[in-house]
Amino acid sequence: MKIIAGNWKMNGSRTALDDMVDSVSRVAGNDLRIMMFVPYTMLRTGNDMVMIGAQNVSKFDTGAHTGDVSAAMVRDTGAVATLVGHSETRDALHDTNADVALRAMHAIDNDLLPIICVGETDIERKTGIGEKVVVHGVRESVPKNAKNGGFIIAYEPRWAIGRGITPTTQEIADMHRIIRDTLIDMGLGDTPILYGASVTAQNVREIINIKNVSGVLIGGASLKKQDFIPIIENVK
Ligand code: PEP
Repeated sequence: MKIIAGNWKMNGSRTALDDMVDSVSRVAGNDLRIMMFVPYTMLRTGNDMVMIGAQNVSKFDTGAHTGDVSAAMVRDTGAVATLVGHSETRDALHDTNADVALRAMHAIDNDLLPIICVGETDIERKTGIGEKVVVHGVRESVPKNAKNGGFIIAYEPRWAIGRGITPTTQEIADMHRIIRDTLIDMGLGDTPILYGASVTAQNVREIINIKNVSGVLIGGASLKKQDFIPIIENVK
């Protein structure tokens, strides 16, 4: 089963989400898992074809944290998943890997499927520490309560997200193999690994067929039906 996850970032509306879920449900096949990560105000129950999730959850479980939203609150909306550690939230909230692990821990405790995002910056890549950063990202962002196959890793090279550039097929294959080896070493080898950054209808077929790529996480190209539906069609 391949996974196609859309991240709407701070875009969209409840009406637009209803429309997208209807359209996606009509084209999605049984061997595909479609997930839509939307702003908190749009969270709701999905359906058999489309899982709906949040873009982050709090690292606290409850209490005096004005403006924060807990994993239990997200689950209470009917949503069933959440991103954690997306590069944009790592930057905005100054999250360390340990913070991301706390968020993922609360997600798992509240029956939300977390997608834990890891990836290296441009400088880290150019100075030759990209692989080390990604391996640390996986080892330190996965919480202790994570079960084999009970969460998802998304490899998102931070130098490529939202820029319309993608790594080479070989670069994606190499990083996914390193992540797979790390997960196996942690006893979590069945965990799906998504690739994310500048995926489009044009490049998705090649990316989805790379070894150890279990699916894709898509930002910009998940916003409009005319971009997102062809991606689904090309993976089917
Ligand atoms: C993302 O935000 O997770 C992402 C992959 O963005 P984009 O597809 O626009 O690069």
